[in-house]
Amino acid sequence: MASNAIIYPDVLDPIESASREYLDRHQEASLAVMCEYAVANAPLIRKVWADAGVKPGDIKSVADFREKAPFLTKDDIRAYRDAHNDPTGGMSVDSPGQTVSVGTTSGTTGDPTPVPNWRRTPAEETYARDHWHIGVRPGDHVCHMLFTFRGGHRRRSLSELGIAEICFSISPFEIPRIVDASKRFRPTSMSIFPNPLINAFEQYFEKTGEDPVDVFKSYKGAIFGGEPLGDRQKALTRSWGLELFETTSLGDVAGACECREHNGFHAYEDIAFIEAVDPITAEPVADGDIGELVVTSLVDRLSPLVRYRTGDLVSIDRSPCGCGRTHARFKLLGRATDQILVKGRSILPREIMGLVEKHDETRANLFQIIRADREMDELKLRIGYDVTRLKDSEDALKLRLYERISVAIEVPLVLELVDEQELLKLGPPHKIPRVTKT
Ligand SMILES: [Zn+2]
Repeated sequence: MASNAIIYPDVLDPIESASREYLDRHQEASLAVMCEYAVANAPLIRKVWADAGVKPGDIKSVADFREKAPFLTKDDIRAYRDAHNDPTGGMSVDSPGQTVSVGTTSGTTGDPTPVPNWRRTPAEETYARDHWHIGVRPGDHVCHMLFTFRGGHRRRSLSELGIAEICFSISPFEIPRIVDASKRFRPTSMSIFPNPLINAFEQYFEKTGEDPVDVFKSYKGAIFGGEPLGDRQKALTRSWGLELFETTSLGDVAGACECREHNGFHAYEDIAFIEAVDPITAEPVADGDIGELVVTSLVDRLSPLVRYRTGDLVSIDRSPCGCGRTHARFKLLGRATDQILVKGRSILPREIMGLVEKHDETRANLFQIIRADREMDELKLRIGYDVTRLKDSEDALKLRLYERISVAIEVPLVLELVDEQELLKLGPPHKIPRVTKT
């Protein structure tokens, strides 16, 4: 070994394996400080707390916080934005020089909301930890598919670690460049790698005869994001020698990513305080039960979201994880607003996903639930199919899909088939709306 070789420690940041007692104490102290800061500096938080008649000094413990701190919703932010002509919806502190760039939310539930970025966004911190966990180390290259939400266009955290990023747009047209970069630089990870891009890669490999195992042989993992990962996509990418790590938003406060145990998303509890509440009554639900995820940033001095209701249905597990981390994990079941009740049965898009992908023509898993109302008498699905893969006729495919889905879901079903290219036009590029009114 060369005498000047640099040895980097292959260990977790100590905060990631801190004891539960330490994390609880840390959160209690941080919550009190953050409430005081947010009320003093973020106009919308000040208004929400004044309306509720609560003062930061009332919050001396986690129990006080759970009992007294008012909730904040995305609708509150949008309403404040419209009423005050404030693009950040009253969630950005008024302090010149703090905002160094502006991204947006991904726009899953409506118009994308501008997200001002601080010098070091919490999402960047979690992004760096996620890559470190996958095995990315100083001197490595990674492929970065630029995304605008949650600071995904910012690249400071990895460059500070000495990791070189190769940047691409999220577009099938980039695939030849990604393949070329993968063979030249032999990157160790890719982020984010969404469903439409995986499907486009599959078609590319089929068309060109390029060997996916060779293309991806240097990768220790790829971060998959945008929407739930289906079994077919997981098996497909595994056959390419690529391990996918699902990521999701921690309620616009930061990112949350799976670890090698693939048993839920890790919420970094030094960065956010997480709770689950009943989506209707807002009463707390116990860890392990299904509730709406509520997050509070413990670190973000630019956009200090406090008790923000995310609309995501989750179950939280605070037991230590096999990967060595002590921070909570959560399973994501879907969005409360995506839930549909058909003759009293609750259905979420995640459930349909495992069924549609089982047919070759619809393997890209492109479908929409048509939800005119939260409660419906029948389940209406619009499913996109690849016209070039049609084995028999459209009617025969429809019948095969009808049989599989109606047996599994057991509610009256109405199917509409369309060319999948039509659904892809409904982007943004990393996903399509899974629930639509018409
Ligand atoms: Zn873990």
